[in-house]
Amino acid sequence: MSRPNIRVPFNRSDPMGRELEYMQEALAHGQISGGQIFTRRCEHLLQEITGVPRAILTTSCTHALEMAAILLNITTGDEVIVPSFAFVSTINAFVLRGATPVFVDIREDTLNLDESLLDSAITSRTRAVVPVHYAGVACEMNSIMAVAVRRGVAVVEDNAHGLMGSYQGRKLGTFGCLATQSFHETKNFTCGEGGALMINASEYTERAEIIRDKGTNRSRFIRGQVDKYTWIDLGSSYVPSDMLAAFLLAQLEQRHMIQSRREKLWTRYQESLASWARSQAVRLPVVPAGCDSAYHLYHLVLPSPERRDALMDHLAARGILSVFHYLPLHQSPMARAMGAGSARCPVAESIAGRLLRLPLYNSMGPQDQDMVIAAILDFQ
Ligand SMILES: *Cc1c(COP(=O)(O)O)cnc(C)c1O
Repeated sequence: MSRPNIRVPFNRSDPMGRELEYMQEALAHGQISGGQIFTRRCEHLLQEITGVPRAILTTSCTHALEMAAILLNITTGDEVIVPSFAFVSTINAFVLRGATPVFVDIREDTLNLDESLLDSAITSRTRAVVPVHYAGVACEMNSIMAVAVRRGVAVVEDNAHGLMGSYQGRKLGTFGCLATQSFHETKNFTCGEGGALMINASEYTERAEIIRDKGTNRSRFIRGQVDKYTWIDLGSSYVPSDMLAAFLLAQLEQRHMIQSRREKLWTRYQESLASWARSQAVRLPVVPAGCDSAYHLYHLVLPSPERRDALMDHLAARGILSVFHYLPLHQSPMARAMGAGSARCPVAESIAGRLLRLPLYNSMGPQDQDMVIAAILDFQ
């Protein structure tokens, strides 16, 4: 597809190492359904990277979240707490099981769930809280875990942005009983569409395999633990093709190279834009002490929605694509229809109108970034 007017895309995916070689190997192996060699290799590598006892590859982060909702036996009337500034799937996966969404506001600095609001959002019906480590910067996990444990609420980390990030020296995705990863094309590591469920509480492991395999005990059958397989629980088809796992393994193997490239790009934006940002009342990302970022995305917070839209147009006129997200979930038509539209989330509302994400991708070269930086500095 030629789109000559685009000089710097917002995102693109490129092979980072042995993707094609591994996909050929998967083909030569003759079996490309799920659960084959490359699926298992990805799962072992994810376990090695994070230290989670069991990682299972899924077709998406959305599906990993759906699995979490089934594992936690979420049912009609249960309340699930999420930040309003989050992706649709973060809550939709639980609403599918009958949950009532409870939206809480975010912090001004990291745009993560405001931990000081968590305790008062919990009721006798609250079953889970799903924090998102926005941009790959950790939520305040000490206080979130303390409140959740004291109130008996499960923590599921939506770690779509946070693989390789850490909080006080501990990898993101290892705090909640469950955590989810995304390998969608916009994420640091990708196979186009993919995800993983990270299982920290081992009581969920066996059932997770069953849920991923259409509610059957096929995994136990393959391991020779039962002599036939049959339908024993709820489930769906949540296992990706080994072809995708082959692509993903190559990406995960290049994690240090990928992360060091993203860190360089992130840091260069942060340093090059510092004085411009001060003069324009623009807020740059904040990484609190004790957090090692996963460098998933780089965003600016403009002083007003008008300035945000103007900067976006200014960049587009120079062939540079920037995007914004998330529309506050509590203001969505679905949340309103469910009666959750009156949540008080003034920070999420204000940020959503003023945030802009700049191009940042693994193969982004210095000239591409120079063009973006020069265009921004030119915006007065
Ligand atoms: C990308 C993303 C998801 C969904 O990931 P998929 O793999 O596309 O399902 C969920 N939560 C957050 C915070 C995301 O950024």
